[in-house]
Amino acid sequence: MSDGADRVWSVSEHLDSILGQLSPLEAIELQLLDAQGCVLVEDVTVPVALPPFENSSMDGYAIRTADVKAATDAHPAVLDVIGDIAAGSGELPTVGPGQAARIMTGAPLPPGAEAVVPVEWTDGGTGGGPVSTMAAHSTDASASGGEVRVYQGAETGQFVRARGSDVAAGELALAAGTVLGPSQIGLLAAIGRGTVTVRPRPRVVVVSTGSELVQPGEPLGPGRIHDSNSFALTAAARDAGAIAYRVGAVADEVETLRATIEDQLVRADIVVTSGGVSVGAYDVVKEALSSLGGGSSFGSEEGDEDAPEGGGADFGHVDFRKLAMQPGKPQGFGRIGPDRTPLLALPGNPVSAYVSFELFVRPVIRTLMGAGAVHREVVRARCVTAIEHSPQGRRQYLRGHHDRVTGTVTAVGGSGSHLVKALAYADALIVVPESSTSVAAGDEVDVILLD
Ligand code: AMP
Ligand code: MG
Repeated sequence: MSDGADRVWSVSEHLDSILGQLSPLEAIELQLLDAQGCVLVEDVTVPVALPPFENSSMDGYAIRTADVKAATDAHPAVLDVIGDIAAGSGELPTVGPGQAARIMTGAPLPPGAEAVVPVEWTDGGTGGGPVSTMAAHSTDASASGGEVRVYQGAETGQFVRARGSDVAAGELALAAGTVLGPSQIGLLAAIGRGTVTVRPRPRVVVVSTGSELVQPGEPLGPGRIHDSNSFALTAAARDAGAIAYRVGAVADEVETLRATIEDQLVRADIVVTSGGVSVGAYDVVKEALSSLGGGSSFGSEEGDEDAPEGGGADFGHVDFRKLAMQPGKPQGFGRIGPDRTPLLALPGNPVSAYVSFELFVRPVIRTLMGAGAVHREVVRARCVTAIEHSPQGRRQYLRGHHDRVTGTVTAVGGSGSHLVKALAYADALIVVPESSTSVAAGDEVDVILLD
């Protein structure tokens, strides 16, 4: 196999050659909510135990267990209510023999008390006002007073959350490598972390090309179609964990496309283009990007410090390759501009663009994020649909619906790479290997799960 323009690359050769050139983005410190979906790069330990103090798990009365030991419905314990303790109370009354303090959920257990009896086990007190208004009262001692009847005893520690019962000081809260979802962010906040060190979400700029493209919402003229790729790819990039910027469709003009991409580099960790990569007369991406390097002004006059020896003429290189796959045969990959930003040029047919994103762009995003799971889950499944013609020598990706319960997959729509409706109903890609030209109903196949 030659390395020339005629070389046909396998899917994994192309992917390996891309990922082999990339490493995760530098870690940065972010505010908690800005770190959602990011990968933690530090082990976070707990500075102070959670809960930080003994507190009540119920609204009720803090009591001494000996006082209520013999309490029954017929013979309730009658205790003097010496105060109210709300969540956040700093000053606590000491509960002596024969005494109780009204206590709210989350409030500190006062000295002297050994347990909490829930308000439902009492008459609600005679001097403290109705139960329903308890939470509205402050720690104002005048709101308490009177007596409470307790109808049931409590064990030491009952309805009390022990200090450190959630997590102890010095314990590992979250390990490096954890992806920060809502509950992980909640834990970080609970232990008092305001910021964390994570790998940032890669910024992906999506540019679609084609003079036929019209923005959705605008009327179509003759021969024109709506730009769907830039929307699907931007959404897919977000879904993969990136911050994605959609650039409206660019006309098939080499200089306009070059200028657009160059302008976008400042906010891009990855550039994704769609369309213009085959061998047609208007294959603008190929024309604009394959001539990078010697003589190109791409990458602007400044920022040449990183350019290789020989001056500022070489601003990167995009390779256009033929892949042994269907759809998605033409693919481009290179690194451009002063920061050698990775650029993936995907074919324009909507299904080809989407499948190419799944196979190549998503792993790039996941690699830059430092995610542990770079690839989609692949399972074996019985293919319910017979696939009669699959191209010899090319790995085919058909849209499918996977059923986890039965372990089967059904093809959705045909193999046409313009079939956007079928794509919208698919949740899996059926993989037909290079060597197979058909799949009989009931045969096992590899299936890439898309959600
Ligand atoms: P190309 O690779 O540019 O020759 O495009 C291949 C096919 O995909 C053509 O039928 C295009 O009209 C169509 N196409 C290209 N870009 C888009 C896009 N952004 N949205 C929808 N269809 C597109
Ligand atoms: Mg085009």
